[in-house]
Amino acid sequence: MVTHRAASIAAPRRAYVDSGPVVTDSNCIFCKIIAGELPSARIAEDDRTIAFMDINPASLGHALVIPRSHTTDLHSIDSGDLAAVTASAQRLAGLAVERLGADGVNLLNCAGADAWQTVFHFHMHVIPRFAGQPEKDGLTLPWDPKPGDPDRIAQAAAALRGETA
Ligand code: 5GP
Ligand code: ZN
Repeated sequence: MVTHRAASIAAPRRAYVDSGPVVTDSNCIFCKIIAGELPSARIAEDDRTIAFMDINPASLGHALVIPRSHTTDLHSIDSGDLAAVTASAQRLAGLAVERLGADGVNLLNCAGADAWQTVFHFHMHVIPRFAGQPEKDGLTLPWDPKPGDPDRIAQAAAALRGETA
């Protein structure tokens, strides 16, 4: 069975910082990075978040921003942590432009295994982009942009608004 929850037998451990309780999952690799039990190339940190380099970068400077408090994905993250991660990702995006000379930046979050999530501690990818420099930038658009069927688009919009068909 596909599960979107990090496998954990032990109950998550709680600690406290100024911004509230911090949950730790002893089986989570990102929690181990936060605790310093696994190495990482850290870039920045604050009360709620830590930013470090991705070990399989899609481009030069590809980084991850994570909340200190363990949570599985976009659906479960505390809104204050989400705001803090987003603000940290915005700062990092600026640094990528200023210090790495990036021409653009993609922010990416994968929510669920079917959306490519492989580590089940929420994270935001910060992926600097370099125009015409394939040696620095291996990212390509993952879909084929073409006009959709207007009826299907309208049906999806109605479903999202909560209207029944
Ligand atoms: P996801 O596929 O879940 O959106 O992204 C997980 C990311 O975490 C991947 O890009 C992967 O390269 C990165 N990653 C996985 N394990 C480690 C690790 O031990 N250290 C670091 N720095 N990144 C990791
Ligand atoms: Zn974790």
